[in-house]
Amino acid sequence: MSPDPQADNAAPSSPGEGETLQALLDFLRHGGPTEMDCRELLEVIARYVDLEATGAAPDEAMPGVGLHLEDCDHCHELYEVLQHLELQRPSLDQELEQVWEEVRALTAGPGSA
Ligand SMILES: [Zn+2]
Repeated sequence: MSPDPQADNAAPSSPGEGETLQALLDFLRHGGPTEMDCRELLEVIARYVDLEATGAAPDEAMPGVGLHLEDCDHCHELYEVLQHLELQRPSLDQELEQVWEEVRALTAGPGSA
């Protein structure tokens, strides 16, 4: 029953490890760098929905958006909400602003952006 000194040295956990892993998971979850990431999508999704509502073909102007929406459940959900609001009532600036605040909170994450 002697203590093993090597056991203590084997602990690999370091503070920065979790962040790197999370970034990797996000990367894998979103299918890699061939598409725009969620942040980029958030910058154009309102315009995308706007174009779509006016009868234009937003995929021609912003092909990356459709690709991302197919792969990303989170953004697709947001897209459907925006689309719904847009189609129901054209000027919903206040309600849209609330949605954006939630979106910003989600994308900012618990730490710093
Ligand atoms: Zn996304």
